Amino acid sequence: ERQKLAKLRRLPAETTDGEAVELQANLEIPAELPLIAQAGALGIGLLRTEFLFMNREDLPDEEAQVAAYAEVVSAMAGDPVTIRVLDWGGEKDIQALAEGIGSLHTGPNPALGLRGIRLLLRRPELLEVQFAAILRVAADVGPVRVLLPLVTIPDEVAQAREILERVARRLRRKGVSVPDKLPPVGAMIETPGAALAADAIALEADFFAIGTNDLAMYTLAVDRAEVEVAHLYDPLHPAVLRLVQFATEAALRLRLPVSLCGEMAGNPKLTPLLLGLGLRTLSMNASSIPRVKQVVRSLDIGDCARLARRVMEQSEPRRIAELVEGFVPGSR
Ligand code: PEP
Ligand code: MG
Repeated sequence: ERQKLAKLRRLPAETTDGEAVELQANLEIPAELPLIAQAGALGIGLLRTEFLFMNREDLPDEEAQVAAYAEVVSAMAGDPVTIRVLDWGGEKDIQALAEGIGSLHTGPNPALGLRGIRLLLRRPELLEVQFAAILRVAADVGPVRVLLPLVTIPDEVAQAREILERVARRLRRKGVSVPDKLPPVGAMIETPGAALAADAIALEADFFAIGTNDLAMYTLAVDRAEVEVAHLYDPLHPAVLRLVQFATEAALRLRLPVSLCGEMAGNPKLTPLLLGLGLRTLSMNASSIPRVKQVVRSLDIGDCARLARRVMEQSEPRRIAELVEGFVPGSR
């Protein structure tokens, strides 16, 4: 079995009717890098940068960040690395960061407060250091994309892009090399508001990454980390799927690259549904890539689209799970 999976690494992620699917890796700590090479990922769809800020008392400076991003980008050998800027807040409670940037008001409900891009725009100096490091790595090491967490309004993307351009100008003035064409700037679609306003956000963003972990939490009002309501946390809830479909279709209509990088991307049982909804790029834990690739290679897009249509007619999460479970590739 292991040998079979190793052989898979060299085979394309392509459906039986010839649709190419991009399988990318999510990376949370650089120690997982060797696994990514083994899995045969086509780039990194989500580099979570929170690890840089954890377990320390001060903030990581530009040099430390350059070193960390360079390690990842050079390991990917020319395949693009999507670097998500700091997503602090919500369940990602980074105590040291709070100390490093002084007192931070977390509010009555941190998940609905100063989290993700909101914090970074409030404290642009955090974003500036991160952007400077990203631009230097983009110039010297390899291709990167910039991803913004918890976007809810188009202006957040516009403001972040202005800061990126300002940082690029400052670096150029200092004689530091920066790519002529700045890296694409994308938005996480991980709140119902962002999903329903995807067409508006698309006017400012260069790409979307749909984050179903938070999207399910915010849509269903179920905290990701609350055991008492864990039974209600379900990315197959029709409300979550409708939002995924809405955002995906907006992106496809506007020819904006779109990927899905929540945990559901790595569940091979859900691959037919996700392809049927129109997604062609999935980013997941590296260890899931071989199995998902195996499934992709057994699928026909027409069958996937038919499954998705049936699923989207349902209103019961349980019925959706049954349809997804019962799907057998190649049978109609
Ligand atoms: C998500 O919310 O689905 C996501 C991919 O980001 P994270 O799990 O880091 O919040
Ligand atoms: Mg998220």
